Amino acid sequence: MINDTFYDIAIIGGGISSCVFSSFHLKNGYQGRIAIIENGRNLGGRASTRNSISNSGWQLNHGSPNFNICNSNNNQSLKTFIQELLDSKIIQSDPSDLIELYEDPRDPKKIISDFHKCKNYTSSSSMSDLSKNILNHNNLKNQVDFFFQTLIVKIKYENNLWILTSKNGYKFMTKFLVCSSNLILHKRSLDILKINQIPLRAAIPINNDKKIDKILNLLNKQEYVQRLTFLIYTKSNYCYKDNYKNRFRYFLLNNLLEEKFKFERIIFQQQINNKIGIVLHTRNKEFITEYFQCNNKKKFKNILLDKFNQIFDKNSYINKLIDYQDISIMIWRASQPSGLGIPENLQVCDKYNIAFCGDWFDLEGFGRIEGAILSALKLSYKISSLY
Ligand SMILES: Cc1cc2nc3c(=O)[nH]c(=O)nc-3n(C[C@H](O)[C@H](O)[C@H](O)COP(=O)(O)OP(=O)(O)OC[C@H]3O[C@@H](n4cnc5c(N)ncnc54)[C@H](O)[C@@H]3O)c2cc1C
Repeated sequence: MINDTFYDIAIIGGGISSCVFSSFHLKNGYQGRIAIIENGRNLGGRASTRNSISNSGWQLNHGSPNFNICNSNNNQSLKTFIQELLDSKIIQSDPSDLIELYEDPRDPKKIISDFHKCKNYTSSSSMSDLSKNILNHNNLKNQVDFFFQTLIVKIKYENNLWILTSKNGYKFMTKFLVCSSNLILHKRSLDILKINQIPLRAAIPINNDKKIDKILNLLNKQEYVQRLTFLIYTKSNYCYKDNYKNRFRYFLLNNLLEEKFKFERIIFQQQINNKIGIVLHTRNKEFITEYFQCNNKKKFKNILLDKFNQIFDKNSYINKLIDYQDISIMIWRASQPSGLGIPENLQVCDKYNIAFCGDWFDLEGFGRIEGAILSALKLSYKISSLY
C-alpha cells in the first residue's frame, strides 16, 4: 500500500533518544504533529525487551538491562528530567545485587564497567515500556503517530521538505527531519539496506553544506562494538541457591574471566510467571565468529551451558543449570559506538532542516543511555530556537 503522510517533524528511529526528544519537546509546548518511524515492532531500540511469541509470558530485556547516570558536568536539565521520571514512577533506583566475578577470588581488583558506575536506575516495568512511558508522559494531546516495522531506505530534500521512503513503499513528508539513529548516515547502511549510496549523502551531495559533509566524514570513522545476547528461558524448577528477592541480579566478569569464558555480563531477570530468565552478554569477537560459523546450534547451546556452569561452580548464589525451556539469540551488529564521538555542534543543520540525536555524540554518557538522553534534551533546546 502506498501512502503519503505529512508531518511537522518526522523522527527516524524509536529508541530512547527519539522518545525523550519527543516527550521533552511536547512538554516545552511544541504544537506540531510528530511521526516516529521505527524498523522494529516496538519502541526502545537497543534498550528494549524481547516479548517472545514462542515463549509467551516472558519479558527479557535483551539489550541494555538498566541504565546509569553520572552527570558529573551537572547538567540541570538532565538532573530535572531524571527526577521527573523518578517522581512519576517511570523509573526507580536499581536495588539489585551487582556481583563481581574474578579469575582468582583471592586477588579481586575492582572491575571498571562503564555500565555500572555512578547511580543505576531501572524501568519500573520493562525496558521497552521505559521509552513508551517517557513518551506517553507528555504526549497528552496525541500529537505523535507511530509507524512500526517501517524501515526508511531513501530520503530526499525537495522544495524545503524531506520525503522519506520506506522499504515497504510508504512515503512520509516532513518539514523537519530528526535522525535518532545514524544508520542512514553510515556506510554500514549500504550492506544493511542493500543500496549503493549512503542515504543522507544521496540526498545532500558533497559541497552543499559543510556541516553535513563534516558529520558524514566523522561518523564514518566511528567504530561499533558487536554484541550477542543469549536469552535462557529456564524451567519452572530453576531457582537461586539463596533467598534473593529483587527483580534483577547482575554478575560482572573481570577481564581474565571474560577472556576465559567469553562473557562480559550475566544478568538474571525474575519473571512475573516466577521463572528466572538469564541473559548472557558477549562482545568477544572470536566467540561471535564461532557462533556464526557453527552449523550445529544445539551443540553451541550446550557449550553455553557448560561455560555457565563452570563460571558458577562453587558459587553460593547460583544453581547449576541442567536443563532449560529455550535459548534464543539476539544479534547486535552495532551495540555501541566506540572511539570517536560526534561533536555536539553538528547536531543541527538549519540550512536543510535536519537534526540528529543518540548515544553517538561526544557527550557525557557516549555509547550509553545517559548520552542518548542528554543528546535528546539538548536537541530539543537547540531546535526550539529555530521556530
Ligand atoms: C546488549 C546491549 C547492552 C547494553 N547495555 C547498556 C547498559 O547497561 N547501560 C547503558 O547505559 N547502555 C547500554 N547499552 C547501550 C544503550 O542501549 C544505547 O546507548 C541506547 O539504547 C541508545 O539509544 P538511541 O536512542 O541512541 O539508539 P537506538 O536505541 O539504537 O534507537 C535507534 C532506533 O532507530 C531504528 N532505526 C535505525 N535506522 C532506521 C531506519 N532507517 N528506519 C527505521 N528505523 C530505524 C532502530 O531500529 C532503533 O530502534 C547496551 C546496548 C546493547 C545492545
